[in-house]
Amino acid sequence: VPVIGVFALQGDVAEHARVLAALGARVVPVRAAADLGGLDGLVIPGGESSVMDKLSRLLGVAPAVREAIASGLPVYGTCAGMIMLADSIANPIGGQQSFGGLDVTVQRNAFGSQVDSFETALEVPGVSGEPVHAVFIRAPAVLRSGGEVQVLASVPASRLESGRPAKAGPVPVAVRQGNLLATSFHPEVTGDWSFHRYFLERLVR
Ligand code: GLN
Repeated sequence: VPVIGVFALQGDVAEHARVLAALGARVVPVRAAADLGGLDGLVIPGGESSVMDKLSRLLGVAPAVREAIASGLPVYGTCAGMIMLADSIANPIGGQQSFGGLDVTVQRNAFGSQVDSFETALEVPGVSGEPVHAVFIRAPAVLRSGGEVQVLASVPASRLESGRPAKAGPVPVAVRQGNLLATSFHPEVTGDWSFHRYFLERLVR
């Protein structure tokens, strides 16, 4: 049975825990460096990245997460979790930092109008044979991705909120780089578990 941590300082921790447990994982909440020991994988939930960052530095767990990422621990970040994994944030709040590891630049709250939320069906060959139902809630967009980054799914650039920096071509919303997986959207709230399954089967193994 894989032991999967859910980073539990802030965000939709319970939703991820429920999906992972239903898929057969033993789920451990991660709030301190000691909680990272013995994990086969880690999920960083959706929520508010600036708060997650502030708490993780305040509580001193940030360096240990960085080390775990660098040492090859499989990590899956959704939405705010994607922002925490990004090497660079185009529009950080104040001195907002990320854990990094994923060679991308993300823009926070990049989609939609008004409430910055939408749902769509995504083609994600390699992850699911069926279109994946994806819910975007004040979601980040990947503005730049390095050569090692594999783009698993994209949405049309027309989804980007007007007034944001223009980007040519489709906007990546699901990416993988080695041990790291990140989605702009929230599979943990939809009942579509294909990304959690992909994480457990392909990254955690
Ligand atoms: N906008 C949030 C952030 O910047 C992310 C939103 C989410 O996780 N649903 O962290």
